[in-house]
Amino acid sequence: MTDWKARAAALYDGGFRPMFIGGQWCEARSGAVIEARNPADGSLLATVPRGGAEDIDAAVAAARKALEGPWARFTPFERQNLLLRIADRFEAEWESLCLSDTLDMGMPIQRTLANSRRVLGMLRYYAGQAVATHGDTIPNSFPGEIYSATVREPVGVVGAIIPWNAPIAGSIWKIGPALATGCTVVLKPSEEASLTVLMIARIMQEAGLPDGVLNIVPGLGAEAGAALAAHPGVDKIVFTGSTATGQAIARAATGNLKRVSLELGGKSPVIVCRDADIDKAVPVAAMAVFANSGQICIAGSRLFVAREIHDEFLGRVADYAAGLRIGHGIEETTEIGPIISARQAGRIAGYLAAGPKEGAHLLTGGGSAEGGHLAGGHYFQPTVFGGVTDEMSIAREEIFGPVISALPFDSIDEVVARANATPYGLAAGVFSTHLGTAHKLAHRLRAGSVWVNMYHAIDPAVPFGGVKMSGYGREGGRGHVEDYLDTKAIWINTD
Ligand code: NAD
Repeated sequence: MTDWKARAAALYDGGFRPMFIGGQWCEARSGAVIEARNPADGSLLATVPRGGAEDIDAAVAAARKALEGPWARFTPFERQNLLLRIADRFEAEWESLCLSDTLDMGMPIQRTLANSRRVLGMLRYYAGQAVATHGDTIPNSFPGEIYSATVREPVGVVGAIIPWNAPIAGSIWKIGPALATGCTVVLKPSEEASLTVLMIARIMQEAGLPDGVLNIVPGLGAEAGAALAAHPGVDKIVFTGSTATGQAIARAATGNLKRVSLELGGKSPVIVCRDADIDKAVPVAAMAVFANSGQICIAGSRLFVAREIHDEFLGRVADYAAGLRIGHGIEETTEIGPIISARQAGRIAGYLAAGPKEGAHLLTGGGSAEGGHLAGGHYFQPTVFGGVTDEMSIAREEIFGPVISALPFDSIDEVVARANATPYGLAAGVFSTHLGTAHKLAHRLRAGSVWVNMYHAIDPAVPFGGVKMSGYGREGGRGHVEDYLDTKAIWINTD
C-alpha cells in the first residue's frame, strides 16, 4: 500500500511555487502571493504568485512571441511527437500528479488515480489529431485553370481559464488541442487549486515544450482572469466554470471579438423509469451526485423517479448514501472528501437549510460530517431530499455539493417537460431496460450528453459540452481541435 502521507510531506512543504512565463519560473510583478491550503485539514501546502494584469501582459507577449518563433516551424509530426512524449511523462509521474490534486482540492485519491485512462487518452488523442487535420482542395466554378484550396492555421494565442474541481483533466482539455494545432496558451488556474497545473507545466517543459508555448499565471478571477478575458492580444478564450463567470467572460471578449467557448454549470436530471434495473441504477444514480462530494459540473442532482418505484428506490439510494465513507482524500478508503472552501461550504449549508424550509423531507444526511479526524476541513454527509417539487430552490439551482433532490413522475411526456424546464443543459441520465423509452428520452432531453444505464462517461474522442446556459463549444472529439484552427482559402491562377 502506498504511504500517501509520507509522499504528501515530501511534495509540499509550505514553500513558494513560482509561475511560468516564457519558459521562466518567476514571482508576480507585484510580489503578492496566494496561500494554497489543503481543504482536508486547512494546512498550508505552498504559496503561489497572485498574478495580476501586468503578469497577464507578460504571458500574452511570451505566447505571441512563441507563436512567431520556432514553434511556428514545428511540423504536425513534431507536435505529435511532443504530445506523445508529454503523455509518457504524465504516465511516469501520474501518482504524483494525482497526489498533488488530492492535496490541493480534496478529491479522493482513488478517484484522481482513476482518471488516468481519460487524461493520458486525451494527450494521445490530440497527438493523433495533430497529424490528422488538414485542408481540402476544392473544385470551383471559375472558367480556366483556377486552383482553390484551404489550409488550416492555428487560431493564435489561446487564453484558458479553469475551475478548481478537476485541474488535471481541465487543463489538458485546453492545452492538448492547442499543442496539436500549433497555438500557444496562457492558462489561469483557479485561485483554489493552482499547484498541479504548475506541476504540469514543469513536466511539459522537461518533455521539450518550447519557451512561451505554455504560460501559467495563477491569480484571482477578478484580477488575472478578467485581464486575460479582455486582453486584445488573445485570439480565443476557452473557459470552464460557473455560468455567471462565463457570461462576464463572453462580455469581456467582445473588445477584440476573440472567439469564446464556454463549459458552464448544470442542474442535470437523472430519470429512473419504472422498468429500470434497480440494483444497477441505485449506486450509479447516487454517485452521479456524490462523486467528488457533488463538486462536479455534471452532477445528476435532480433525481426523477417513476412513482411506482419511487419509495423503494429512494430508500435504497439513502441507504447507499449513508454507507459512503467520508474522510481525507489521501486515505485510500475515502469516498467522500472535503468541500473546497469555507465559502462553498456556506453555500451548501444554505441549501441544506432551505430544503426542509421549502417543504422537502430529509431522507439521509442533511448536515456537516462530525469527527475528530475531520477537523480543519469542511465535510458534508451525502444528503437525499424527498418530497421535492420543481419550484424549490434545491430543484432549480446548482448546489455543487453532495445533495440529491428527488422528485416523483408519472409519465414520459411529463418527465421530459419537467427535466427540460431548466436554464441549464449540460447532461442527463436515463435508467430504463426498455429500448424504446431509452431512445425516446435520449432524443428528447435537451443536454450536451445523455447517458443511458450509466453516468459520468467522458472520453477524448467523444464531444462534451452544454446547451442553453450550460455554454457552447465542445471539448473532445474531432470538432474540438477544429475550434483551435482558422481556415484560409488559397486561390491560384495557374494559367
Ligand atoms: P468560477 O466561475 O467561480 O471560477 C472559474 C474560473 O474563473 C476560476 O479560475 C476563476 O478565478 C475565474 N474567474 C472568476 N471570475 C472571473 C472573471 N470575472 N473573469 C475571468 N475569470 C474569472 O467557478 P468555480 O467555482 O471555480 O467552479 C465551479 C463552477 O464551474 C460550477 O458552476 C461548475 O458547474 C462549473 N464547471 C463546469 C464544468 C463543465 O465542463 N461544464 C466543469 C467543471 C466545473
